[in-house]
Amino acid sequence: MRVIIVGAGIAGLSLAIALGQAGHQITILDAAPQLAELGAGVQMTPQAIRYLFKWGLKDDLLSESIIPESLYVRDGQSGDVLGTVRIKDMEVQYGAPYIVVHRAVLHAILHRHAVRAGAQVLLDSGVVEYEFANGAVQLRNGNWLTADLVVAADGINSLARSKLLGSKDPGSQPTGWAAFRMTAEASKLRADPAVASLIDLQSRSSNWWIAPHLSCMTYLIKDATLLNIVLSHRDDVCTKDFTPGEYNKTVRNLFRDFEPRLQRILDLSRPQIANYPVYAVPPLPSWAHGSGRFVLIGDAAHAMAFYMSMGVSIAVEDAAALVAVLDLACPPDNDPSFARERSEEVASKLKHALQIFETARKPRVEAVQEASLHGGDSSHTSDEIERSVLYEALGHSHEAEVWPPESDSSRGNLIRKSTRTGQRLGPGGIIDKGTRDWCYGYDAVGAIEKAYKSSSIAGQA
Ligand SMILES: Cc1cc2nc3c(=O)[nH]c(=O)nc-3n(C[C@H](O)[C@H](O)[C@H](O)COP(=O)(O)OP(=O)(O)OC[C@H]3O[C@@H](n4cnc5c(N)ncnc54)[C@H](O)[C@@H]3O)c2cc1C
Repeated sequence: MRVIIVGAGIAGLSLAIALGQAGHQITILDAAPQLAELGAGVQMTPQAIRYLFKWGLKDDLLSESIIPESLYVRDGQSGDVLGTVRIKDMEVQYGAPYIVVHRAVLHAILHRHAVRAGAQVLLDSGVVEYEFANGAVQLRNGNWLTADLVVAADGINSLARSKLLGSKDPGSQPTGWAAFRMTAEASKLRADPAVASLIDLQSRSSNWWIAPHLSCMTYLIKDATLLNIVLSHRDDVCTKDFTPGEYNKTVRNLFRDFEPRLQRILDLSRPQIANYPVYAVPPLPSWAHGSGRFVLIGDAAHAMAFYMSMGVSIAVEDAAALVAVLDLACPPDNDPSFARERSEEVASKLKHALQIFETARKPRVEAVQEASLHGGDSSHTSDEIERSVLYEALGHSHEAEVWPPESDSSRGNLIRKSTRTGQRLGPGGIIDKGTRDWCYGYDAVGAIEKAYKSSSIAGQA
């Protein structure tokens, strides 16, 4: 089958690898003249890493990423450790590691493997128009390209989404949070006695200082030569046209009550600071066009807050799920004339495949969106009672059992159920084992197989 993918970000490249390896003919179009990922670090979760390993990226990923031993959650003011999440143990629990990696490194690895899988990557090829029912896209230069299926992975401000949904496109919406991002040379930090102990090259552990409305996450990337620093804050600071000096002043002022070691890390960090308001795409009425020729994936379909580290990982899940459903509902055909000659039959199979994709993926993704936002809201709560529940939960974060157990419903608003799937939304996101288990232990391909089986049984009935 011929597939056009719009967008060579992490979602588009992951899909290109999976589809290319499954025997499909792939063209990826990206508006950018050069491929480059903005930002420094990204954290990736086991259920997605499992697929990247399956697609042959294991050696490249492991040689260029870091598996932290632990995440230490600290009180912002005192720096005391409130809880410890054993990141290293996740490999045994969920079948693949939790990794941290430089964005540009991840992007380069994905690009290399997409090309190796046979994908044609066309840069400077922005898409300006869609004919969804015909699987056609128009490039900025006026040329039209067609395929059996068009997949738009064109990011949070997706043109494809607005064309597909028109006035029903809610657009991306502010979550109320934003993050300053910066980096520091690990060698500089290690040379400073005040902070050297936080940059442990053996354990490569991460640190997360939390306080009402504010937090700071740090983790090592680039073979532990660089510390990635993400400073979350309420999205009420307009940083448009800020000079580096104004950025620095704002960050220092906001985080002035944090412990001295964090102040020292900020003293020693690089002057480049960027502010990322955190936006999310609310649940959409649909991701697919009724013709079966078009579907949205990645941030274009479901951008989310980053507090479960799941945006990239969910994009990889999308890729694994889409290729699985195409394999089941319309397996690859070696005859290139097949699709053209039996176009209607192919469209009907694709329509079925995309329906199953949506049935399996939407509840999953929308529950993860809820968990991600709840993770952010609950870890930054300023409510005194909620904060005491959070700290109590942190005291249990190293344990192998879920705390508090499902039967204990006395902890109020901080422990909820997903309105989409009923799954647990615990306090602090990643620190809650119950939330981790369903987020990081998920089988995206298994869910597709289950949905396909149910649809076949329903079709026979
Ligand atoms: C501060 C911050 C921290 C984050 N941290 C994490 C984290 O730790 N872990 C995690 O999993 N996620 C994290 N995320 C989320 C993650 O970055 C995104 O979910 C992910 O990058 C989305 O990938 P994508 O491929 O869907 O979109 P994008 O990466 O946005 O890619 C879209 C691509 O489409 C191209 N494009 C756009 N329009 C067109 C067009 N019309 N024609 C052709 N090409 C087009 C663009 O050039 C781009 O290359 C974070 C996000 C933020 C803001």
